[in-house]
Amino acid sequence: MAPREGSASFDIVISGASFAGLALACGLAQALGDQFRIALIDRGVGPGASVGRDSRASALSAASKRMLEVLGAWPLITTEAQPVARIEITDSSLEAAVRPVLLTYDNVIADGEPATYIVPNGVLHEALRAVVSPVPSITWIASAEARDFTTDELEARVSLADGTELAAALLVAAEGRRSRLREAAGIKVVGWSYPQIGIVTTVRHERPHEARAVQHFLPSGPFAILPLKGNRACITWTEDAGEARRILALDDEGFLAEVEKRFGGKLGVATLDGPRQSWPLETHLARRYVGHRFALVGDAAHGVHPLAGQGLNLAFRDVAALIEVVSDAVRLGFDPGDAQALERYERWRRFDSVVSAAAFDGLNRLFASDLTLLRSAREFGLGVVDRIPVLKRFFVGEAAGVTGELPRLLKGEAI
Ligand SMILES: Cc1cc2nc3c(=O)[nH]c(=O)nc-3n(C[C@H](O)[C@H](O)[C@H](O)COP(=O)(O)OP(=O)(O)OC[C@H]3O[C@@H](n4cnc5c(N)ncnc54)[C@H](O)[C@@H]3O)c2cc1C
Repeated sequence: MAPREGSASFDIVISGASFAGLALACGLAQALGDQFRIALIDRGVGPGASVGRDSRASALSAASKRMLEVLGAWPLITTEAQPVARIEITDSSLEAAVRPVLLTYDNVIADGEPATYIVPNGVLHEALRAVVSPVPSITWIASAEARDFTTDELEARVSLADGTELAAALLVAAEGRRSRLREAAGIKVVGWSYPQIGIVTTVRHERPHEARAVQHFLPSGPFAILPLKGNRACITWTEDAGEARRILALDDEGFLAEVEKRFGGKLGVATLDGPRQSWPLETHLARRYVGHRFALVGDAAHGVHPLAGQGLNLAFRDVAALIEVVSDAVRLGFDPGDAQALERYERWRRFDSVVSAAAFDGLNRLFASDLTLLRSAREFGLGVVDRIPVLKRFFVGEAAGVTGELPRLLKGEAI
């Protein structure tokens, strides 16, 4: 492509170097080879600098793990990745003296592989940064904010806050929930916020968790105990916004007392092992995932309630699908921003994320209620699933991300 005067020219520009942007840059570089130049821009720090602490740990599906293996990031993660062997689900009020387990299942897929792994976000981020930074075809531009872009028949031109302009055949926004380039593209978002806040912290506990993840459905929202390496767990807890603000303002002793009230006694005494952090919760869906020479991936395209731990897995599905359609197009002689390839990407990904967002929103509404009738219906539903192995296998397959039309990377195949 002939560069315009005053603008640096690339084949692909990705705005946002977090989970989705890093994985996309790495996968595209692998698929397209060194002659394809990729720019990765982020308003945060570049390679080599340390990123701010994220207390969250993510439940990564077996399919996401397969993609990370192909990208070369998994070997850097594996010592910190806790496989989840078993899942327990309870549904009771906060005051209940005992929390009967309503549904329990082995969290493994056909070949005995765990369906999910709990990985600290900081470890995942560092691993992706480590595989991207030495790639010669990727130019990482740190402390750079994308502000706006224009397109014509041949290229997209993105302007940065410092006045620099970058040109490329394809521009991808991997900018998270508040995507500036999505707005600049005029792509509207449908969505709603929840009157809930997500609280995250890490605890150390007395007894081993035996690779068991627990989801307590409480009336104000789910309280998930996600096992980490060692006798530790990441707590991902959804709470009514007012109550969450009160709890977050408590000192460590008061905060721990609130954690313990929900934690249950199975793992013995718990102590805090990390800072507390909080996130506002929302569901949002972009009305389109692509525009002229433009595509959205990850939270820039969709945001889902974290109760099922699938936001990042959906982001990796986008990444794997976009890498596949773009590299297929390039191999057929088209350029990376080919309109038909982008339409294929949108068809592939939008339906799946709309269905997922609706399902997680529905689950949150169904469980965040203390109405006796709803409680009985839930108990009946969970009891039915508990007794029917084929239904359990279905849920495990969904969590593992191995159902539906999978992009090659999610099957562990190189592009
Ligand atoms: C409490 C909580 C728990 C969760 N737990 C799970 C879980 O267990 N499993 C799971 O799969 N998902 C989980 N998620 C969801 C998951 O964290 C997100 O889906 C994921 O972080 C999205 O990654 P992303 O790369 O799309 O965006 P982000 O991580 O938001 O990254 C966006 C990047 O873009 C950069 N950026 C933004 N705008 C610009 C700009 N204009 N110019 C330059 N750079 C820009 C930012 O600096 C940032 O680096 C959870 C979410 C929450 C809130």
